[in-house]
Amino acid sequence: MELEELKDMKQTPQRLAIIEYLKENKIHPTAGDVYKAVSERFPTMSFATVYNTLEKLKEKGMLVELSIDPGKKRFDCDLRPHHHLICIRCREVFDVFKDYYLELPEEEFNGFELVGMQVDFYGICRRCKELERKNIDLNL
Ligand code: ZN
Ligand code: MN
Repeated sequence: MELEELKDMKQTPQRLAIIEYLKENKIHPTAGDVYKAVSERFPTMSFATVYNTLEKLKEKGMLVELSIDPGKKRFDCDLRPHHHLICIRCREVFDVFKDYYLELPEEEFNGFELVGMQVDFYGICRRCKELERKNIDLNL
């Protein structure tokens, strides 16, 4: 995300802080996560400002909205093609950059010319697995 690309957006320190946060925290945050982090530095900033800024950045193609979390929008500022690993317990989203070939039978193309694909893997992350193991140990 280059700052020149933002020249037609008003450069308030708050907006820059939002962009900085996204660049440094590739955790696929929700608008709430961004608000929580950035409002520590800018206590007067409203949730609406954060939300609107995220929407604007999305419109400009500088971040993408993920639909993997049915409860909340998650934002990804890494525009390189990649896949995701999603924890069904804590909803943490990990990036997968390994490329692989996935075969789709031609009769499923529906006349589409395929230009890309994105795969969402679901599972239980290491931390949640560890937690479950500990809870089982405690109950024994
Ligand atoms: Zn987890
Ligand atoms: Mn990602």
